[in-house]
Amino acid sequence: MTSPASLVREDILALQGYHVTPAAGMVKLDAMESPYRLPGPLRDELGKRLGEVAINRYPDSLAPRLKEKLRAAMAIPAGLDILLGNGSDEILQLVSLALARPGATVLSLEPSFSMYRICAAFAGMRYAGVPLNGDFTLDEAALMAAVDAHRPALTWVSYPNNPTGNLFPRDAILRLLDRSPGLVVVDEAYFPFSGGATLLDRVGKHPNLLLVRTVSKLGLAGLRLGLAVGTAEWIAELEKLRLPYNVNALTACAAEFVLDHHEVLAGQAQAIVADRSRIEAGLDNLEGVTRFASATNFVLVRVAGAGAVFERLKARGILVRNLHGSHPLLENCLRLTVGTPDENHLLLEALAASLT
Ligand code: PMP
Repeated sequence: MTSPASLVREDILALQGYHVTPAAGMVKLDAMESPYRLPGPLRDELGKRLGEVAINRYPDSLAPRLKEKLRAAMAIPAGLDILLGNGSDEILQLVSLALARPGATVLSLEPSFSMYRICAAFAGMRYAGVPLNGDFTLDEAALMAAVDAHRPALTWVSYPNNPTGNLFPRDAILRLLDRSPGLVVVDEAYFPFSGGATLLDRVGKHPNLLLVRTVSKLGLAGLRLGLAVGTAEWIAELEKLRLPYNVNALTACAAEFVLDHHEVLAGQAQAIVADRSRIEAGLDNLEGVTRFASATNFVLVRVAGAGAVFERLKARGILVRNLHGSHPLLENCLRLTVGTPDENHLLLEALAASLT
């Protein structure tokens, strides 16, 4: 009988998709969103601009104005090209599809962003994970051995890494680029909080380096806009896989407007970094919490009975991300997104009351 089970690809039937937890009414500290909206006057002006957009027309598919504003806001050199995605998630998917020659392997550190593995599955690619050390530092010897063994067509490096929050040594990434026969994609989703750590200055200097950024963590997660930065040769190939109007006209208009006020977003990111330090200090005062270093807008912690602690936080109206069970190295780990000062205070209070 005709059914999805008889027709859908077996690897897709076996796949667990990306999980999003319902969060209505909760203090939402689970998804690394910015807690800050635009200031009122900017919101009003944005509303007017959006009202003027000709939504009867398809968007300008190449979006040159938007690209120029991203270039200015992110200091992307003139010699490099930009590919736009419906969120950087879409860029991850496009890159995977482009490199999915028969038998090609994707390499990722583990634990890292789950979409690297999921996109490999979409594209029907082999996948190999290289475990980090127990303290989430990079096991460079294991990484290099895996590069030599698998000869990956594609290697992902989340810099800083989600969900651990740390930055791997820049020198090790440069050595990875030299050693890799395939493309190395450095995913800088958390750049606004990384203290300026970036490989942008190396793009174009290595033939196999592509950089990925997003505006999501900068307070624009709802727009769905991400980008890849690379040489003209790489971007031209990836462009062929981009669906014609993947960035919609309202997103383009809103992003162009907000990027003209980039200093507002940068200020919010700075506030988040300062509040991260306050959360870290608060966590260090709690007995039974192991805290890991963060260069992002979230903090990874380990607590006894993380599943129960997660449920108690939820019962108190606070949603964080329970990572226990998602990878052996993440045993009893919770990921806490930095919120507003009030939200962070509530989180620390609730956590203190929820520890076993
Ligand atoms: N890369 C990393 C490392 C992420 O953590 C995320 C979001 N959690 C993304 C990419 C995707 O972000 P977006 O699709 O919102 O641009």
